[in-house]
Parts: sequence; C-alpha cells; structure tokens
Amino acid sequence: MRVCPECGKNVDEKALACSYCGFPFEKKEKIYLVSSKVMIIAFVIGLIMMIAGIKTINDPMVSFYKQHIQECEEGITDAQREKATTLITLKSGYDDIISTYERLIKDDLRKMRIIQIKGYVMLTIGLGLLVYVIYNYYLQKRRK
Ligand SMILES: [Zn+2]
Repeated sequence: MRVCPECGKNVDEKALACSYCGFPFEKKEKIYLVSSKVMIIAFVIGLIMMIAGIKTINDPMVSFYKQHIQECEEGITDAQREKATTLITLKSGYDDIISTYERLIKDDLRKMRIIQIKGYVMLTIGLGLLVYVIYNYYLQKRRK
C-alpha cells in the first residue's frame, strides 16, 4: 500500500493513479539510459577504436610479411628444383634450406595473424561502442 500525496488515502502499490482522487503516481522508470556525456565519450572512443582497427588491419607490416612469404615460397620452389638435379650427397643441404624457408613462413604467418586479430578486435569493439551509442540515442529520442 502507498499513501496518496493528494488525498492521503491508502492506495494499491501498483496503481498508476489514485483510485479515489485520480492523482497520477509517477511511474519509476528503470534508468537504462546513459547520460549524453558518457555517450559522447563512448562515441569518440568507438570511432577512434574503429579507425585504429582499420589502420591495424591495413598495417604496412602485413604486406611486408605477405611479400616475404612469397619470396620464401619462391625460395622453396628453387631449392626443390635444384635438389632434384643435384648430387645425392648435396640433397640434404637443400632440405635444410627448404625447412628454413618453411620456418620463416610460419613465423611470418604468426606475426601477420597477431596484427590482424588485434585489428579486428579493435574494429569490433569500436563498432560495438558506436552501435551502443546509436541505440541509446534512439531510445532517448523515442522517449521524448
Ligand atoms: Zn488520492
């Protein structure tokens, strides 16, 4: 039960208005909307994260690694060709060269993935923040 501030009578707790005098009780709304200050900060951070993510994905190091991988693959092809025509005693030397190239490729791929994952994580967080801000803006607009 609650007491009506207008007529002082006891009214049901869930009633939206007093059943005696019709006084409207203010519905306590859940505070799910964030302040515009927080929204602006979230928007700016989201935008920065998104740009940083895109920049990271397009990092020049990624194309450097790609180039290097290609060179290593060419090196492997060359070594395999040489190995096929060389003396048996020299074949193991080419195997060493090939395994070195393979190790370098693996290393490049790992470094490339780290950069790309970092970029996509930043991009996702940035986009998430922007969507969150836009959704909140929409909720506040609708409430007015
Ligand atoms: Zn009342």
